[in-house]
Formats: sequence, structure tokens, C-alpha cells
Amino acid sequence: MSDERRPVTTTDAGIPAASDEHSLTVGPDGPILLQDHYLIQKMAQFNRERVPERVVHAKGGGAHGFFEATEDLSQYCKAAFLAKGTRTPAFVRFSTVAGELGSADTVRDPRGFAIKLYTEQGNYDLVGNNTPVFFIRDPQKFSDFIHSQKRRPDTNTRDNDMQWDFWTLSPESAHQVAWLFGDRGIPRTWRHMNGYGSHTFSWVNAGGERFWVKYHFKTGQGIQFFADADAKAMAAEDPDFHLRDLYQTIARGEHPSWTLSVQIMPFEDAADYRFNPFDLTKVWPHADYPLVKVGRLVLNRNPENYFAEVEQASFEPANMVPGIGPSPDRMLLGRLFSYPDTHRYRIGPNYLQLPINQPRAEVHSYNKDGHMRYQHSGNQPVYAPNSYGGPQADPRYEDLGWQVSGEIARAAASRHRDDDDFVQPRMLYRDVMDDAAKARLVSNLAGHLSQGVTPAVLGRAIEYWRSVDGDLGTRVAKAVGSRA
Ligand code: NDP
Repeated sequence: MSDERRPVTTTDAGIPAASDEHSLTVGPDGPILLQDHYLIQKMAQFNRERVPERVVHAKGGGAHGFFEATEDLSQYCKAAFLAKGTRTPAFVRFSTVAGELGSADTVRDPRGFAIKLYTEQGNYDLVGNNTPVFFIRDPQKFSDFIHSQKRRPDTNTRDNDMQWDFWTLSPESAHQVAWLFGDRGIPRTWRHMNGYGSHTFSWVNAGGERFWVKYHFKTGQGIQFFADADAKAMAAEDPDFHLRDLYQTIARGEHPSWTLSVQIMPFEDAADYRFNPFDLTKVWPHADYPLVKVGRLVLNRNPENYFAEVEQASFEPANMVPGIGPSPDRMLLGRLFSYPDTHRYRIGPNYLQLPINQPRAEVHSYNKDGHMRYQHSGNQPVYAPNSYGGPQADPRYEDLGWQVSGEIARAAASRHRDDDDFVQPRMLYRDVMDDAAKARLVSNLAGHLSQGVTPAVLGRAIEYWRSVDGDLGTRVAKAVGSRA
């Protein structure tokens, strides 16, 4: 651009600035003046550039695209965006969990797979992971779990002993840990992994019939993973490998896609299903509830500004549109509170008014004011009920629920006939992994257990793997021994 056509730099108040290079001084060697508002604004704003990083899922990247409902599922769900042929704008953010903002992408960690659909009935956020299960089943343990994966209070380093201490004292983690140390624990890129809603959700059709569902986004690019040593080499070579890959792929016109399918459980099945279907440490076997195709998710546009579109993107599992609701899954119920709470802290109470989070549907709420509120309701009534034409709630949008009764207590969720923490990791090890995948699992586990794990915790870890599968425990013990 020629110099005449370039805009003049201004302060943030739009006042033209005289120099981008020189501060205002008394003579060439004199002091800088406090009245140099342009300089002071620049320094002060710089000091405030960062918002607190996410306490989990800090490192990530994202892209825009759309979700298209390709099948007619109206017999199960009345949500408008699921009407066959409907295309809904989407934004997706991928992330690692434990690392900080600048940490390497190719570490062994679950990946966040958070989807925001800007539906005509408001935002629908499906805040999932690339794994169908999780380490724990009660939000009471969430901050403890994350603390064990992050940094020690004394050395400020991550510590395998803390991780295994927590896992082995929490046997419900075995399924997710087996998954994590298997091949899918380090995806080749964000494009080459599946996404899962993980929780059980409820759906209702126009006739009021309810179902339980689980979401599966299967990658159209095929599953690819990093072997442990290659991932470590890549972490050293390019810590932003996944971020760069997604951006460059979309920039060259390739648009990664995923097929969304759901497992659908009739509402009444849940009560006497052989294990608790709301337990986030378990999948529903496909043989019991096969995948039913719903549509496709396509990513086709890079963010223009990382901070505005990725760092400020605020996903919340509580954003569910009419036709979709929660389930008794305790982790889901905990997350319904915790996500909006973290956004109020990180971004501010009016985070939903930022362009990336703003619904495309009209907002008519009685919430008002607060820091940085940008859209206001003018002179409309500020309370409900009112007799001056303000918005009115409509009972047709009643919340989805289920029947409960019982004593108030701190107790485990109801146990079903086959509830057992080791059955599903055993299925994963014995039935899903082939011999080569089993060998890589053993090697990955032994590598991790050989670094800084105390003998007592190591002994418990061997028992933990023996409980999954006797042969697996023996192989891990042997492999750790040979590395000692
Ligand atoms: P299926 O044989 O029907 O399904 C096996 C599933 O395992 C497929 O979804 C497959 O994904 C996935 N898978 C393949 N390799 C791996 C791996 N190395 N790590 C993790 N997942 C892998 O069996 P079931 O439904 O009876 O489930 C058996 C076990 O499979 C479960 O205990 C669970 O550990 C695992 N699994 C089950 C899922 C489910 O929702 N039922 C989902 C994911 C894993 P793909 O088809 O994409 O290759």
C-alpha cells in the first residue's frame, strides 16, 4: 500500500498520533513526559494484553465451519438444527488439557473437541473430548485430578508420581488411562482424531418422547497417531505442530470433516441397563446401541484473529437448545456450573456479547449491565413479570428432566448389575487392540512409570494393570524392571 493510502496511527480514542517511534521528551536527551498519553496508553494496554489462561485446556486452536444435518432424526429429537438439510454455522476449538498456553501440542493427553453451533434457537455447545470416557465420574474429584496432572507445589514441575498416585487410588480412571496410553493418546493431528460428547444427554421429540444419547464425531481423514518417540521429537521440533497443521490445511483449501452419529438408548432402558449408563468412565458398547448417522461437521475457515476467536471463545455445556437436555451424569451436571463460571472469571461477566460467543438468535434477557456490557435493552422493562411489553417466558420450552427420589446424602451413584471399573479397559485391551497396539501400550506405560514413580505407587500401578488384565500387569512389571 502506498504511504498516502495507509491510515494514520491513532490512540484507541481515535486521535491521530505524530510518531510511532519517538516518545515525547524535553529535548533529545531529556525526560519522557507524563503527558505522552499515546506512549502511556500503549504501555498500559500491553501490560493488560493477557487474559488468565484456561486452568485446563489452555493450549489450543480452532476454526470456523458448519454442521449439516443429513438425516431425518425427528422421531428422536425436535431440535431445529437437526432438521434434515439444515446447515448451522459452527466454531470448533481443539486443545490439550494439562499443558499451559505455550506447551507442546504432541504430548500424551486427551484433546478437547469443543463445538459451538450458532443455531436459530440459540447457541448449542457440545464441549467434548477426543475420548469417549473420562478419568473420574464425580465432579467432587475434578480439581484434585487436575492438580495431580499439573505442577508440584514445591518444584513447580510435573510429576509422574502424583499422576499415578491419584490414578491408582481412583480405580475408575483405569479405562481412560488405558485409552490415554494406547495409540489414540497422541493423535497425529487434530484432523486425525474422533470427537465424542462423552456424557449422556437427553433428547425429546415433538411428541414428548424422551431418549438418552451419546455423540460420536468420526474423523473423515482417518485415525492417525504419533508413536511415543516421534511425538517427543515433534514436541522439540515444532511445539505448535497441531495448531500449524490445522491452519495450513484450511489455508490451502482442504476442509477437514467429521461424521456425527449418535447412540440412542430408549428412556426406560437406563433404569436396568447392565451398568450405569450415566457413568462417564464407561462407553455404551456398539453392539447394544449401534451408531445412528446424524450429519457432518466441516471446518472451512481459519480465524482472522487468534485472541478474538480462539482465546476468547467460551464454550459451556449448559448451552443446550430446545429438544436437548442433560442427564444424571454427575460430571456433566458439575460442568454445567463450572464452565460459565470460569468464563465470568477469565473473560468477564458479559463474555456472551463478544462476537465469537454471540448467538445468531436474538437475545431478550433481563440480565443487564456489568463490566464491558456492550448491547443494552434500551428502555425496555428490566423486570419480569411486567405489564409494559417486555419479553415473556414460554412454558413450551420446559426443561428436560427425569424422575428422582431419595435421601440427601454423599454417596456413589446407583450401581447396576455389571458395574466394575476394570471391565471396559479389559475389553479395550483384549478385544480392540491388536498385538502391536498392546506392545506399544506396555512400552508407553513402562516408559512413564519408569520416571520418578516411587516404589509404593509403582507397586499399586502394577496391581491396577493386573486388575485390567493379568497378562498386561505382568508385562508392564517386566518392562519397568528391564528399564530400572
Ligand atoms: P467395538 O468393537 O464396537 O468398538 C471399538 C471401538 O474402539 C471403536 O469405536 C474404535 O473406533 C475404537 N478403537 C479402536 N482402536 C482403539 C484404540 N487403540 N484406542 C481406543 N479406541 C479404539 O466395541 P465396543 O463398543 O464393545 O467397545 C469395546 C471397547 O472399545 C470399549 O471398552 C472402549 O474401550 C472402546 N471404545 C468404545 C467406544 C464406544 O462408544 N462403544 C468408542 C471408542 C472406544 P473406530 O471405529 O473409530 O476405529
